[in-house]
Amino acid sequence: MGESDGPHPKFRRVVLKLSGASFSRPGERGISVDEVLKIARQILLAHQLGSHMAVVIGGGNILRGSQFRTVAPTIHEATAHYMGMLATVINGLALQDCLESLGAQTRLMSAIRMDGVCEPYIRRRAWRHWEKGRIIILAAGTGGPFVTTDTAAALRARELEADVLLKATRVDGVYSDDPEKNPHAVLYTELDYATVLENNLRVMDPTAITHCMEHALPVLVFNYLKEGNIQRAVMGERVGTLISNRVNRPVPAGTSS
Ligand code: UDP
Repeated sequence: MGESDGPHPKFRRVVLKLSGASFSRPGERGISVDEVLKIARQILLAHQLGSHMAVVIGGGNILRGSQFRTVAPTIHEATAHYMGMLATVINGLALQDCLESLGAQTRLMSAIRMDGVCEPYIRRRAWRHWEKGRIIILAAGTGGPFVTTDTAAALRARELEADVLLKATRVDGVYSDDPEKNPHAVLYTELDYATVLENNLRVMDPTAITHCMEHALPVLVFNYLKEGNIQRAVMGERVGTLISNRVNRPVPAGTSS
């Protein structure tokens, strides 16, 4: 691992959940190499701080299974979800090459076997890659339909014994309401899992939050568009909203991190 001589990261094992949307320009779909490179640079810098990084990539910029609901059963719901999982592999390939163009060593691991394209996900092998200083990219979600890559990220974080699940978003953290629609929306610096679930706060899907709650896995929701935020998050600096077992402490709206 490209460990620096400077201060050590707070989180040594990190699962970073990136939505597919982070690979597109705002308002667009598909893959923008510039956007992927921007994120790849941040991931590489976080890795160079000395953290083991596993990136769970979504596929929403290409397709989500739920968008085919109206055409079921012509396209079965399960089939649509498999299509969504394949979309995450496409994103994984893009991220892998962007990271490697910057000099990183990576492995793309898929929950659905795809020999010739990437490796199968095997927990012990993932650990080995970390030991060898590689950034791992985890694609195809859980490998099973009807859930999202948020749930995959929560499960992988648990089995890889991650210290934190970083959830990258385009806003500064978790708000009491949509900050773009409600000027009185409050940005939380800390929340507990139960509050997220009870108030239906839009963070990750509830299955993922429930899993994190059951295993006391902290989730940090932060704005990846702010340069340096992935490093700050890994170092344990105050950024975004930390979801854990602690009591929630709201801070005034408009406070950015
Ligand atoms: N998906 C699935 N099982 C999984 C993970 C993902 O069936 O374990 C499918 C699901 O249809 C989902 C799509 O893959 O909508 C893309 O993932 P996601 O919606 O999580 O992507 P994101 O919103 O993070 O870009």
